[in-house]
Amino acid sequence: MIPFLDLKAPHQELQSELDEVWARVRDSGWYILGPEVDAFEQEYAAYCGAQHCVGVANGLDALHLALRALGVGTGDEVIVPSNTYIATWLAVSQCGAVPVPVEPDPATHNLDPERVEAAITPRTKVILPVHLYGQPADLDPILSIARRHGLRVLEDAAQAHGARYKGQRIGAHGDAVAWSFYPGKNLGALGDAGAVTTNDPELADRLRVLRNYGSRAKYVNEVQGWNSRLDPLQAAILRVKLAHLDEWNARRAEIAALYLRELADCGVVLPQVPDWAQPVWHLFVVRHPRRDDFQQRLAQAGVQTLIHYPIPPHRQQAYAGLGLAEGALPIAERLAAEVLSLPMGPHLPHADAKMIIGAVSEC
Ligand SMILES: *Cc1c(COP(=O)(O)O)cnc(C)c1O
Repeated sequence: MIPFLDLKAPHQELQSELDEVWARVRDSGWYILGPEVDAFEQEYAAYCGAQHCVGVANGLDALHLALRALGVGTGDEVIVPSNTYIATWLAVSQCGAVPVPVEPDPATHNLDPERVEAAITPRTKVILPVHLYGQPADLDPILSIARRHGLRVLEDAAQAHGARYKGQRIGAHGDAVAWSFYPGKNLGALGDAGAVTTNDPELADRLRVLRNYGSRAKYVNEVQGWNSRLDPLQAAILRVKLAHLDEWNARRAEIAALYLRELADCGVVLPQVPDWAQPVWHLFVVRHPRRDDFQQRLAQAGVQTLIHYPIPPHRQQAYAGLGLAEGALPIAERLAAEVLSLPMGPHLPHADAKMIIGAVSEC
């Protein structure tokens, strides 16, 4: 069986560097925040072309605390994509605010800017596009709608480390950008980790206070904050892996190019890349009208695939309270029924990619 993703291979490739990291952190005496976290924050901000980076415990907290720092609270509304991982919506709900879903452009699976304006109400505070599957959302029209209506923009970049929009790396187009370093992401820790990048020094300062008990000086609490700090051991591991991110993203792009070329006439709908987007192929998602059968046939041929995501947030029991019945968001529902993610990763051997292409062609 060709596995969907090999999580061990990147760490075997970097074994000696990672062993050094463990010894360095162990001997440093700093186990909460401190120099490794500061260094990663500086290096990741520089990588993204952002002024500031604030490390937090995971991607959901990055979204939640960024929304809090942008002033989102009870009764506010935040515009979110109808097809995304549920974390995007949960972060809004955790603020006591309401996620207002907007349907995607089915060609790119990303928030359709043409539909955003109709969803704005006097309670809207933030527009929250997601760079789904590692492909940037169309930010310019979203940013100009936000400016026109006095709204802020938070980007969910949990799948888009290193992706570029019109040549510029994701990381500082909107007011704030939330990152996850969950192990399977393009830049992944050996556990949970996350961050927010921004060019706004006051926002960065508020985030530093919110992630650390609402405190700037020990035992002095300005606000009721959270405990959501980036772990120094994870920060040190991320520093090692950041140095390899571009090379690993390039290997993903080679596999994506192979898939795009060889699967052009195989009865699956391939991902479409607008000319202004430079995606990082966190996932390679195809569509098939009889997806479940197709997935089963691929499994029989020895190819493990996954579905991102089988149930859109509005159809989860967790959001039954919104009262969005089946058919309420038809594009998200159709995508959820048709999408299938092929194996993709920097350590997927090209020979395996060719076997996968053969299996897809025959299914
Ligand atoms: C992974 C992911 C998150 C959440 O990240 P965690 O670190 O698992 O909390 C949020 N949004 C999207 C789009 C993701 O893929």
